[in-house]
Amino acid sequence: MPTHPARVVLRDVFGFDEFRPGQLEVIDAVLAGRDCIAVMPTGAGKSLTYQLPARLLDGTVLVISPLISLMKDQVDAIREVGFRAAEINSTLDREERSARLDALRRGDYELVYLAPEAFDGRLAEFVRGCPISLLVVDEAHCISQWGHDFRPSYRRLRGLKEGLDVPVLALTATATRPVARDILRQLGMSKPAGFKGSFFRPNLHIGCRKKGEGNTRHEILALVRRHQGDSGIVYCLSRKGVEQTADFLRANGIAALPYHAGLPAEDRQRNQEAFRRDEIDVVVATVAFGMGIDKSNVRFVIHRDMPKDVESWYQEIGRAGRDGMPSECTLFYSWADVKLHERFLTDVEDLDLRRSKREATVGLFRLVERDTCRHRAILGHFDESMDSCGTACDVCTGRAIRDVAAQAMADLGPVRGGQTGSRRDRAPSRHLADGDRPLFERLRGLRKELADRQGVPAYIVFSDKVLMEIATRRPRDEGQMLDVPGVGPTKLEKYGARFLEVVGAEGQG
Ligand code: ADP
Ligand code: MG
Ligand code: ZN
Repeated sequence: MPTHPARVVLRDVFGFDEFRPGQLEVIDAVLAGRDCIAVMPTGAGKSLTYQLPARLLDGTVLVISPLISLMKDQVDAIREVGFRAAEINSTLDREERSARLDALRRGDYELVYLAPEAFDGRLAEFVRGCPISLLVVDEAHCISQWGHDFRPSYRRLRGLKEGLDVPVLALTATATRPVARDILRQLGMSKPAGFKGSFFRPNLHIGCRKKGEGNTRHEILALVRRHQGDSGIVYCLSRKGVEQTADFLRANGIAALPYHAGLPAEDRQRNQEAFRRDEIDVVVATVAFGMGIDKSNVRFVIHRDMPKDVESWYQEIGRAGRDGMPSECTLFYSWADVKLHERFLTDVEDLDLRRSKREATVGLFRLVERDTCRHRAILGHFDESMDSCGTACDVCTGRAIRDVAAQAMADLGPVRGGQTGSRRDRAPSRHLADGDRPLFERLRGLRKELADRQGVPAYIVFSDKVLMEIATRRPRDEGQMLDVPGVGPTKLEKYGARFLEVVGAEGQG
């Protein structure tokens, strides 16, 4: 029986048996009232390092998060496990906003999510009168000009921390030293505890393929088809590339939609929403797509063109496999892509900056041209050393993307020219035994029904991983249901009976 209070909450509230690497270290520092910075890759489970303390600390944990579009999901997800939480932002009407502010002042919430811009007005003054226990700065690299998403409002957070006089927890997946140094300095952190996790993501299978040696479009289609029914992202450098690739995939029966900054806001919103809700499989996008998406079941990320540097590449492929399930990341690259990035740089006036950005792009090109383990090469770039992965990249396995694509084309048939309007199969996951797939599909149907009724994305009810566990373990009662990782008491109470019913019916059928 666990005695550490954090372990008790982990098991009894979140329904997880084990901490992921680094989580307990960070939680202990937070509970001890220390400033702390945690640098951990996407999908590592950073949210838990403040959500769990929110249950144990007196007062409210304030979470600064850069994207209003994500906040509602984050709040929905944490309320699902039984937390008192709310977001306060500009999308609320006056009445709702003031009701929530009153509740915040009374200390009704365990967690409150805010955007940094919220503090441009009088709110900073207001929260000083509220019982705040901890300030969390999520995506903390936004505070740094060296990071990739600098947000000037993040610079105000130091004043906020000093005004509140509470510890701060800074979280980021950006692993470079200048960014970490900048975060410490800009937030005025004192004697901070620090934790840096390994950036190795063994569930991402990485492969690279030079363009010009084959038909890139066809190879991309073949790779997408291997993942029939799975969610995936195809990144392109230009809007035109996005439109062409999306059209081509659709002409070949793939449920794909485009996303780029040139589309009307409503279209962008609608396409993103369709992806989030699993109504389409593939989003073809420029880098404008990503920050706003927090989907745990993205099974593949394909780059039709080379990103601008190693950091961006790693950030973008990091959107795959957040649930820990095997996922595939493929980069198509060429020297022409380097030249294209160079052309974008002519806007940059500072010549030193322009040179260093160009070098970073060339750096990525060189890195993928090398015949060394992809994971090892990327981690080396972030000053982390590791042995070759052995199993999770094309170099180590010796299976070239060219051959994988050719095999897929042989298995799945030739490319179709025109529009087919073909039926879309939501193929069951390949990671299940054949006998478990029908049950998995029924569980997925139930999940969609429950999610739609509440107007939330499916994974907020249960992730694919949880459904797969249910499909293989086939729990027969509430106790066995609770043993499924990811099922805690709150979700058990809310959904347990319905899912047990589906499992039970399967047993008789
Ligand atoms: P990050 O912010 O680091 O990218 P998240 O906080 O979004 O990652 O967590 C990613 C996924 O990992 C979520 O689905 C979360 O529920 C899951 N997770 C977090 N901690 C654990 C744990 N200890 N055991 C199992 N799953 C976990
Ligand atoms: Mg996060
Ligand atoms: Zn490798």
